[in-house]
Amino acid sequence: MNEKNEDKKKKQKQLYALIAFGIVVGLAIIIALLVGINEKNNDKEQNMAYTDLIEAINEQRVEKLEMTVGSTTAKVKIKDVEKEKNAIIPNTQSFMEFIQEKKLAGNEINLIQKPQNVFLKIPNTIFTMLPTLLMLVIVVLFFQMQSIGDKGKIYDGDENKTNVRFKDIAGLDEEKKELEEIVNFLKQPKRFYEMGAKVPKGILLYGKPGTGKTLIAKAIAGEAGVPFISMGGSDFSSIFAGFGTSRVRKLFERARKLAPCIIFIDEIDAIGSTRTNGGTGVEADNNQTLNQLLVEMDGFEENQTIIVLAATNRPEMLDKALLRPGRFDRQITIAPPDVRGREEILKIHSEDKKFASNVSLKSIAEDTAGYTGAELANILNESAIIATINGHDVIEQDDIEEAVKKVTVGVQKKTRVISDREKKLTAYHEAGHAIVGKFLETTDPLKEISIIPRGMAGGYTMYKTNEDKFYRSKIELEERLVGLLGGRAAEKLALNDISTGARNDIQVATEIAKDMITAYGMSERLGPISLEENENVAIFGESIQDVIGVEVKTLIDTAYNDAQEILKANMDKLDTVANLLLEKETITAEEFDKIFE
Ligand code: ATP
Repeated sequence: MNEKNEDKKKKQKQLYALIAFGIVVGLAIIIALLVGINEKNNDKEQNMAYTDLIEAINEQRVEKLEMTVGSTTAKVKIKDVEKEKNAIIPNTQSFMEFIQEKKLAGNEINLIQKPQNVFLKIPNTIFTMLPTLLMLVIVVLFFQMQSIGDKGKIYDGDENKTNVRFKDIAGLDEEKKELEEIVNFLKQPKRFYEMGAKVPKGILLYGKPGTGKTLIAKAIAGEAGVPFISMGGSDFSSIFAGFGTSRVRKLFERARKLAPCIIFIDEIDAIGSTRTNGGTGVEADNNQTLNQLLVEMDGFEENQTIIVLAATNRPEMLDKALLRPGRFDRQITIAPPDVRGREEILKIHSEDKKFASNVSLKSIAEDTAGYTGAELANILNESAIIATINGHDVIEQDDIEEAVKKVTVGVQKKTRVISDREKKLTAYHEAGHAIVGKFLETTDPLKEISIIPRGMAGGYTMYKTNEDKFYRSKIELEERLVGLLGGRAAEKLALNDISTGARNDIQVATEIAKDMITAYGMSERLGPISLEENENVAIFGESIQDVIGVEVKTLIDTAYNDAQEILKANMDKLDTVANLLLEKETITAEEFDKIFE
């Protein structure tokens, strides 16, 4: 979470720098315009027509006349006029002759002839140089923005010795074991080099957000006692072309100075996505940034002990060149923790908290299958906050239950004013999910149904997620579709109307159906082929897209029909559950099961 805050701060700083830059440019333009106007006005005031000059000389009104040898401009001071004026002399030779004549005739003319290259317009010079000076300031500022990274403030990531150790990471035992060799290498690189061993330069960590990828990278640095330089993939992109490449260069320059050390690039997909051919603008810049990263990784010297760790949760997006030998040639998947892992994570994050004696971390772990380490840490933190608000001395089971709901569904919104019609709609929608779920074999057991709004949801149906699942079967996925569409089917059957409340269900169902056809090869008609990538689809020609569409729609239609069939056969139960919900707002699994006894 800290990483996220730092990221936010960095982005804010970048924004401020940009705003400052914009203000300076704006000011420069305004000043330049003012100077221009001023110059124009000055020009108007200062210029004097040649005929007027001759007239003034004839009328003996000229106090002083100053000319640079070889110049065609004369500076004229007229008696009783404060400002000097400039006059263009069309023919200097005949003008001089005219002056000499006047002098001989007894006219008093103070003629000063200055040698060439003496520039006397000093006050004006500063004024005309102002825009140039400002541009200079802007350029300096511009380069300052780039060099902020040199101090580790914005662009070149944060570097420090981290205190995180492997013992701070719960579970992930195999992964930690695999990474121990990297720690040993960072500690004693010489031993490895002498043995002729080749240690990977780059390690890619795949995994859902919050599974502990950053934590692992930090722990490697902490165990080895080497500096940890981290940077987010999006920190490399900028509105200024070429900055990405320069940031990559600087990052590696810094690492070379600090070696042995660890570079950690979070969300590498932001710069490491598959390069495009002949892209323009941002795309071309991203391509160059990625190229620079590849060049830098290829350029490590034998004795430069630098390990680049990168994290992503979208491995399919990455450019194949990143995964070649000598680059990120080792990939480690960081999966969400299993029940034992979850209990250990909960233990680590409960060390500084006080719990009631009946609280069992084991049972929380059993109820939170599929949750990531970050979510579990968040649940414990939220339960401590809720316990404080509730005035409890220690964290109680109820506080934890509430925290689980807050983290998964959102904050309870008891005070939101809801019309009776909307309440009824929500009650039937949630009752629909629960009843359909009851008749599906693979649905998890029900935990609670509620029509109290939470977060973005008007109500929710919660299941006990106490089984770790790494694979899902076709039947399971088909039944999941039926369960998801149970809410919409109930609205239609009971109220003969449908609502926007099913938006999320429909989104999730469509996504699952799409994956079943294009990613998991579950369509009988298409067979086991991967159609996730456009280039694969292109092999089969455009008509395959129509087949994909038909297959996805068939899955959804079938699921919706099945949901309707289950509900039609249980309309009395649907009414009972919905009415109980309207009465009690939240019903437990036991209360729900009683209706079916
Ligand atoms: P993202 O992809 O969003 O950057 P991530 O995979 O890098 O996420 P981390 O930032 O490492 O996840 O984890 C977030 C927090 O979750 C950690 O700071 C830690 O508190 C907790 N956490 C995650 N996994 C574990 C674990 N295995 N043991 C202990 N704490 C964990």
